[in-house]
This record gives sequence, structure tokens and C-alpha cells, in this order.
Amino acid sequence: MSDRIRRAALDALTLISEKGLFAEDAMARAIDDAAPLEGRDRALFSELVRGTLRWRGRIDYFLAALAHRSFRENPEKIQNILRLGAYQVLFLDRIPPWAAVDTATELAKDSGHAGQVRFVNGILRNLIRRKEKIPLPDPGDPVAHLTVKHSFPEWFVRRWVERFGPVQAGNLLAACNEPPSTTLRINLLKPDVSGYLQRLETEVERFTPHPLCPEGVIVEFPGSVEKLPGFREGRFYVQDAGAMLVSRMVGVRKGERVLDACAAPGGKSSHLAELMGDEGEIIALEVDPQRLERIVENMERLGITIVHPLAGDGTSIDFPEPFDRLLIDAPCSGFGTIRRHPEAKWQKKEEDLFRHRKRQLALLRHLSRFVREGGTLVYSTCSTEPEENEEVVEQFLREAEGFVIDKVPAHLAGDVREMIDDRGFFHAWPDRHQTDGFFAVRLIRRAHP
Ligand code: SAM
Repeated sequence: MSDRIRRAALDALTLISEKGLFAEDAMARAIDDAAPLEGRDRALFSELVRGTLRWRGRIDYFLAALAHRSFRENPEKIQNILRLGAYQVLFLDRIPPWAAVDTATELAKDSGHAGQVRFVNGILRNLIRRKEKIPLPDPGDPVAHLTVKHSFPEWFVRRWVERFGPVQAGNLLAACNEPPSTTLRINLLKPDVSGYLQRLETEVERFTPHPLCPEGVIVEFPGSVEKLPGFREGRFYVQDAGAMLVSRMVGVRKGERVLDACAAPGGKSSHLAELMGDEGEIIALEVDPQRLERIVENMERLGITIVHPLAGDGTSIDFPEPFDRLLIDAPCSGFGTIRRHPEAKWQKKEEDLFRHRKRQLALLRHLSRFVREGGTLVYSTCSTEPEENEEVVEQFLREAEGFVIDKVPAHLAGDVREMIDDRGFFHAWPDRHQTDGFFAVRLIRRAHP
């Protein structure tokens, strides 16, 4: 492994733990623009950063068991050198453990004093010798056991053990540690879709039509999505299948008037437009003007004409005409996307589950008035947690008159309808559906008698 890759991985990890950056942004900053990492080097860099973040809880447990004084007392950079080295020793077969120790020691020489260099070298050598002998916490204490086994914060594991029981919680935690596959939503507005799919199939290593979304294809390939055939021509949009199913919940038809109230970067707006055959009108409302630009770019690339980006605040904006369909894809903690953002495990706190609640309710209360009688409202989040899902909807329904839950949306395919529970709440789960965690509910505005 070249020096550049591990140095860049260390820089990214330190930017994340010191500055709280998203892994994606930290990784972009850590790579020298003049000498970008390509192909296998890029894949290894990404694996080192994301893998170390994903397994940080378990790694820290092992390091703490071996260190005489707390390894947490060391500067952040030394801690990250240890974590990066330990990740390779514990989880990567293709890097010889002694090589991982040597490279960690070299990195420590750049960043620390002689005592820290000896500390890094000593602990990692010890880890190689003793890794099989360090026991996990006893399964009799499922929270402590699963916290280390699956490398999640204890408060989060406790929630899921209480909600689902230890077995199901364990399955879900394990699925949240699986690196997600890439799913493309094929743009059905483009001509000769089958010809394009044949071409795509020959150029990727894995090509599997998605079992739940007719327009979804799971692909595996080295390198970045921009290099896949058809990217520039707008042949596809990269989107998790759980998100695709949320747009499908809306149940749009050609010619309708639709409000997508929290729209940037335009993933669901563009999907709705594709489902409408690019006929009708979609207002893509977004409060953040910079993010609004992303909607414009995406619609241009995909060749969509009916999406009209609009800067504005969904908690106060006014519309002269009602809409047939309203989608509120609300800002949330993002806990459903932990597979993709392992850094979030360590950055987010339980309070974050309540942080968006006021705004989620304000969006529902204000925008629901713009749904025509007989029209529908879909409220969704990329969170698995009831505080920003079921509880928000139930509170809204207690106050709002005239809205009822559409418990069995007739337009959905049977296997998607099965993802809706008895109360009418849709959940996509990483363990059961191999998607990110998504929540959605479809409400109908009853006509006045
Ligand atoms: N629906 C988008 C998609 O599928 O690509 C993702 C939306 S993201 C979950 C939530 C978005 O809501 C963010 O872009 C955020 O800036 C926007 N937002 C937050 N508060 C808002 C408000 N009061 N009015 C309109 N947009 C808002």
C-alpha cells in the first residue's frame, strides 16, 4: 500500500473527528486535487476511512483493553493512527498485520514524540498477538455485548434492544455495518432504455435489477459513478431504493400538479417527474438557495422539463392554487443512512432525534392546507426513529381535520404494500430490504360532505 493512501486516510479521519466533517467532504479535502486517487487506490482509501469509522467502537474497545494508560489521552491524530492500524489488523486480510504496524509507526514518527511512537508500535504489536484472546462483553448483558460486537454507541443500541429485542436489534445493527450497494434509478424518459441497459451491463462487474423497484438496478464497479456510461446524458440518477419507494408512495399521475416541499438535491422531484412521463407540473421548493442549484443541475442532466425549482420556506410560503399531491421529505437526523455515513454513529446524539421536530410539524401544519380535497400528502424521512416519524404524524393528525391515513395504497405493488404496517406506516429497513432506513406515510385529504 502506498504512503499516499494511508496518509490521506489519516488526514480524512482526523478532519472528521476534529472538525466534525462528513466523511465524503473530509475525503475530498484529504486528497490532493493535483494527484487524485484512481481505481483500486481510491477504493482502498475509501475502505480504510469508512471501515475505520464503521468499526471505531469495537476498535476502541480492543485498544482500551491493551493500553495501560487510556489511549484516549493521546492527541486525536495519534488515536486515529492507532485506529487505522487496528482496523487493518482486525478486519483486513489482504494487508499483512506487520506491515500495518510498520506503517502506523511511520505515521506516528511524523506526528508524535518518541514516547507516542513507542506507544503506537507497542499496542499494535500486542493487538496482533492478543486479538483472539480479548473477550467481548458477556451476551447476558445484550446492550453491552451488541455495543461492542456491532460497534455502535451504547445509547443507540439500548433504544433498539428495548424496541426490537436483542436478536432483531443485532440483525439490524449488523445490516447497518454492511457497505451499501450502489443503486441506479434508470431514467425511463430516455429513448431505447433496453439498449442502454445492455450496454451498462457489459461495463459493470455486477448488474442486478432491483427486486422492489422496476426502475432500479444494483451495480458494482470500480471508480466513480460519473465514469459510468450514460452519466452525462442523464441516463440514470444514483438513489437508494428506499428513496425510490417513497416517491412511488406519492402515486403521481401524468398531468398532475405536485408540490415537493423539501426538494434539494432533487432526487425525489426528478423521480416524480419520470413517473409522470414529464407531463404536468412539479414545484420543487427548497429553503437553501445553494442547494436549489443542485436541483437545477440535476433536472438539466436528466432532461426533465416539468420541475420548477422555487426558493422559499415551507413553513410560511403561500400558494394561490392547491396541489393534487404534496410530498414533505422532511429534514431529519438521517439515522436511516448510517450504512452510508458511518461517521454519524459517533457525531450524532440522542437529542438529534428531537432537533427537527418543531420544523417537521410546522411543515405539515402549514403545507397541508395546500392539498386539494381528495388529494394526498406523503410525509417521509430517512430516519428509523419514531420521534421524527410516527409521533410527528400522530400529533399532526390529532390537530388536523380532514386527513386520514391511506393504509393500503392501491397503486403500490403487493411486495411494497407489505412494507406498510397495520397503522399505515411504511418502513424500509437495512436488514429486511437491503435499503437505507426510510419512513413514509400517505395521507388523504377527505372531501367535505
Ligand atoms: N427530497 C430530497 C431528495 O430526495 O433529493 C431530499 C430532501 S432533504 C431530506 C431535506 C431538504 O429540506 C434539505 O434540502 C433542506 O434544506 C430542506 N428544508 C429544510 N427546511 C425547509 C423548509 N422550511 N422549507 C423548504 N425546505 C426545507
